[in-house]
Amino acid sequence: MALELFDSKTQTVREFVPLKPGLVSMYVCGPTVQSAPHLGHLRSALVYDLLRRWLEANSYVVTMVRNVTDIDDKVLVNAAEANRDWQEFAREVEGTFDTAYSALGLLEPTHSPHATEHIPDMIALVESLITKGHAYQAEDGSANVFFDTSSWPSYGELTNQKLENMEGEAVVSFGRKNVHDFALFKAHKSGEPDSAAWQTPWGMARPGWHIECSAMAKHFLGMEFDIHGGGLDLRFPHHENELAQSTANGDAFSNFWLHNALVTIQGQKMSKSLGNGVAVDQLLQLGSWPAIRYWLSSAQYRSNLDYSQSSLSEAQSALDRISGFVKRARLVTSAVSGQLPETFVEAMNADLNIPAAIAVLHETVRSGNSALDSQDVDAVSGCLAQVVAMVDVLGLILEQPKEVSLELTAKIENLIELRAEAKRNKDFAKADQIRATITELGVTLEDLPNQTIWSING
Ligand SMILES: [Zn+2]
Repeated sequence: MALELFDSKTQTVREFVPLKPGLVSMYVCGPTVQSAPHLGHLRSALVYDLLRRWLEANSYVVTMVRNVTDIDDKVLVNAAEANRDWQEFAREVEGTFDTAYSALGLLEPTHSPHATEHIPDMIALVESLITKGHAYQAEDGSANVFFDTSSWPSYGELTNQKLENMEGEAVVSFGRKNVHDFALFKAHKSGEPDSAAWQTPWGMARPGWHIECSAMAKHFLGMEFDIHGGGLDLRFPHHENELAQSTANGDAFSNFWLHNALVTIQGQKMSKSLGNGVAVDQLLQLGSWPAIRYWLSSAQYRSNLDYSQSSLSEAQSALDRISGFVKRARLVTSAVSGQLPETFVEAMNADLNIPAAIAVLHETVRSGNSALDSQDVDAVSGCLAQVVAMVDVLGLILEQPKEVSLELTAKIENLIELRAEAKRNKDFAKADQIRATITELGVTLEDLPNQTIWSING
């Protein structure tokens, strides 16, 4: 069975066929760096990491773009409240995301563009939309520029809504023609820092959130690409608006739309505004990064994942069962990564059914333990090879002790990335030197086909 994915635009499960054989282009909406990440952010990033790993395990060459929204109303407001320079503030918040992403074992995206680095792309796209009659400068003469939803009959096609039934702004304001029109550029407001506005053909302004993604996706992936991903909460209006802007401009945009469901706490959406967000720092007091990764992977991506007090301890026990088998098995066999079980492959191909794939992993661990008990070394080797292959595809992190500090984790992950980069550049002397530095930190590395795992000695 080939890979099938649920395309939320057509609301159907479709066979995934890339636009160009062997290549996959993928755009994932990244964080708005207004405050430190919570579990919902991490789950979303992890879902697309798992998809990418699965595509790469199937020999696709994946180009993955995950943007950073570093200019936004909330970034400016939160920086001002903290009495900080907004750019410094945004960089600092971005750092907390990077640390969490790398501790969670996410592969680096191919490109991580910042919105503020692509203002000329956004201006060019908006000029083109104005020329084509789909955007206009505000009627009040300000530098506000809006998308003209009444000019685009397909508006609403992503979420299957009719314009007249949609929520819009409460009143026609800021020079809009109608309540559904959304901002492409926002005029500089008095009281906002001068550095938060750019010279545009319409005056000093900063981009709206939606146009950023359309412009950056086009910059890196072209007029048409394979997969657009993001959290379900971005479907409307963010993704609807991205789709309208790009298609009104004549770009086919994304072939598949994937939306991951949310992390909930007692059935409630997790967000700061509800006051029930579990920040990553708090969570780390309850469980390790490997346990967080395992738990965040444990529901199918289109199902909500509900957090309970036992979530991370159960995840840790499950991981301990896997690493317990791996440790025991390595005492009797040196088997390395082998073939994936057919049932695992089927589960992954069925719209990334990770819970079913994890069930196959645990079945294999159970068979491996039985084989160990009956001293059937061939069977142990077979199971170990499959377990290692499945752990690699799922990016699970085994045997990482809980007491490793966030700083040390970040340092080690950074060194591993530098070493991988040196290897890619065939600078093996440098790679060896970095490995020696890592060893001096009391860390053992193990190179798997798609990743390097590490553990603290002793
Ligand atoms: Zn986006």
